[in-house]
Amino acid sequence: MPNGFSFALLGADGAARLGEFRTPHGVVQTPAFMPVGTQGSVKAMRHRDLEEAGAQIILGNTYHLYLRPGDPLIGRRGGLHRFIGWPHPILTDSGGYQVFSLADRRKITEDGADFRSHLDGSPHLLTPEAAVDIQARLGSDIAMVLDECLAYPASRDEAAHSMERSVRWAARCRTRLMEIRDGSASDVGATNPGQAQFGIVQGGVFQDLRDQSAGAAIDIGFEGYAIGGLSVGEPIDLMYAVVADTARRLPEGQPRYLMGAGTPADLVECVARGIDMFDCVLPTRNARNGQLFTSEGRINIKNARYAEDDGPVDPACHCYTCRTHSRAYLRHLYMAGEMTAGALNTLHNLSFYLDTMQRIRDAISFRTFDRFRQEFLRSASRLSLDS
Ligand SMILES: [Zn+2]
Repeated sequence: MPNGFSFALLGADGAARLGEFRTPHGVVQTPAFMPVGTQGSVKAMRHRDLEEAGAQIILGNTYHLYLRPGDPLIGRRGGLHRFIGWPHPILTDSGGYQVFSLADRRKITEDGADFRSHLDGSPHLLTPEAAVDIQARLGSDIAMVLDECLAYPASRDEAAHSMERSVRWAARCRTRLMEIRDGSASDVGATNPGQAQFGIVQGGVFQDLRDQSAGAAIDIGFEGYAIGGLSVGEPIDLMYAVVADTARRLPEGQPRYLMGAGTPADLVECVARGIDMFDCVLPTRNARNGQLFTSEGRINIKNARYAEDDGPVDPACHCYTCRTHSRAYLRHLYMAGEMTAGALNTLHNLSFYLDTMQRIRDAISFRTFDRFRQEFLRSASRLSLDS
């Protein structure tokens, strides 16, 4: 069965990389940011808003979609793209992270993750094979292997045992995908024959474990590689160091995805260390809480200082929210609890993130990334006015 996924490296500036990957649902330019569409919906956003903001790919959460409305139902609708009406690329996570962070009474064994639904208490077993099957029915363009999520801080022994289990689970995930691809697991009901699968490098903050994990993932062989288990409370300099050292260990000709990060500064700093893909709930979640990212730092729109501020959220932003509305109006909507507050704020924050990625890509292609990085970090840290 043909694999519909390919990655091309188009340029570099230092360790920063410019590239693109092809999927059965279109091309994504990298470095890329993926808005998080938890339940098959980026909260408060219509798909046309996402397109206008420049989103080329979104992320779907397998845990949520598996529990509700269920992957068999989505599979019968032809897969996630068709069900949600998003014709562009989609990446799904394995569900593991939410099992670790949301589910009740979870128990991890070699077999998989035994847990109870946070919705209705029903019992479930998420094995590596089940995580592959569920994502096959969802039909995302990129599926992730099931890995064990390690709490921070963890001892070296804990990190080593967890990483070794994740390697064994990754091998099982790859074997299962190969069965689906070669037709020997046709009963699964896969909806996207060109689905790619990414491995995940774990190992906590221990670089020798990270190296071992990366080597094992490369030996198994995936279409791309993610760095997991960071942005979980470790000091920022340590995170950047682990990202830099781990990215160096990964194949040059394949995409590198840093899971769950981060702030605008994290995006720029981790592109500088060789990362191609990001996802984070920060722009969407913070927007709903009234925290807006701007080219001059973060602002809290609920602050009284904006009550009669007729300027846009960010004079440098060209999104619909900034073109149309004042800070004073957005503050009023937020204080009045209007639903449009969440929608307009999210549109701005995602536009800011996606514009930042475009500027990063431009800077790499003009080989001015280092200057861009220094200017960006200076302005982004200039004011955190209201936090
Ligand atoms: Zn804006």
